[in-house]
Amino acid sequence: SLAIGIVGLPNVGKSTLFNAITRAGALAANYPFATIEPNVGRVTVPDERLGALSRVFTKGERVPPIIPTYVEFVDIAGLVKGASQGEGLGNQFLANIREVDAIAHVVRCFEDPNVVHVAGQVDPLDDIETINTELILADLAGLEKRLQNLQKKAKSGDKDAREQAAVAEQIVAVLGEGKPARAAQVEGAVPKEFGLITTKPVIYVANVGEGDLQEDNDLVRKVRDLAAAEGAQVVKISAQIEGELAEMPEDEAREFLHDLGVQESGLDQLVKVGYETLGLITFITSGEKEVRAWTIRDGEKAPEAAGEIHSDLERGFIRAEVIEWDKMVEAGGWAAAKSKGWVRTEGKEYVMKDGDIMNVLHNS
Ligand code: GDP
Repeated sequence: SLAIGIVGLPNVGKSTLFNAITRAGALAANYPFATIEPNVGRVTVPDERLGALSRVFTKGERVPPIIPTYVEFVDIAGLVKGASQGEGLGNQFLANIREVDAIAHVVRCFEDPNVVHVAGQVDPLDDIETINTELILADLAGLEKRLQNLQKKAKSGDKDAREQAAVAEQIVAVLGEGKPARAAQVEGAVPKEFGLITTKPVIYVANVGEGDLQEDNDLVRKVRDLAAAEGAQVVKISAQIEGELAEMPEDEAREFLHDLGVQESGLDQLVKVGYETLGLITFITSGEKEVRAWTIRDGEKAPEAAGEIHSDLERGFIRAEVIEWDKMVEAGGWAAAKSKGWVRTEGKEYVMKDGDIMNVLHNS
């Protein structure tokens, strides 16, 4: 699944947001997951298509359960100024942040004299730079060490090591200029084993008071400008409001959002933007037993998607029956959809599309 790490300076609202996330997760129905680690929370990906399909496959009293797909949020504590020099940035921090697919960087965009700011004043751009610098320095320290090893191996004739060393050298130079590794123009993909943090996409989460949810305040505008220059996305939320929303039943939450003048909760927006940022799509398995969403990368082929359900389905993949979700709703079920000729047979080269319903035929 997709994991997003939450980082930010102390006192910007990370814990408030993370608590909202874990509460939202605890409330969600049909949870097929048992215990997860205390610093991990799960938010379901909102998807109205699943409700429509569940109605299609309802038989009398038997309503098929909806199993949404989800995004994992990891609370990554321990990032403070000077962290990369050993202040607080321990191995646990690095281990946690290396595992995530994207980073949600929470930035304080609310003024409140009662909440102390670590740097003495609220300045989102300064805060962002502080965090980014620590991440760059952490990458630099790790990669310089790796580069030395690679150079040693390269000297003794290891060709792979020589190639990797060349890439590492390029990235070290970029990091040394105070830029993130993603700014390096390297050929091909950066080797995963480099364990770099600053190759990961960043979503800036501008945390505002509830009065600033509708209109951007000056602080949010600054964050948006910076993000635009970096090609990063911004999600404006109020961590406090998210906490309240997470306690409410769905219809009440909708009304509350409406009263605040916003369409969608900040968490829902964050999940969607996370999806987009990482180039993910959803496919669906659907029938009387359950209606279930699955997350895959855009561009994945049918067997890989089948492997998301179970590795046996990928290994034993023969072909797949595929139909767009709205066609299924229109037809009203598998049999009707087949008789209309709307269910296609797709082979191993089929590239999945968002909203496809798939039934895998396999010999396992
Ligand atoms: P963390 O250190 O980044 O985890 O920050 P916390 O979530 O603990 O928040 C620090 C303080 O700021 C707490 O007292 C929160 O109640 C408060 N806080 C968080 N978000 C907001 C907000 O949007 N407006 C105001 N006024 N206070 C907030």
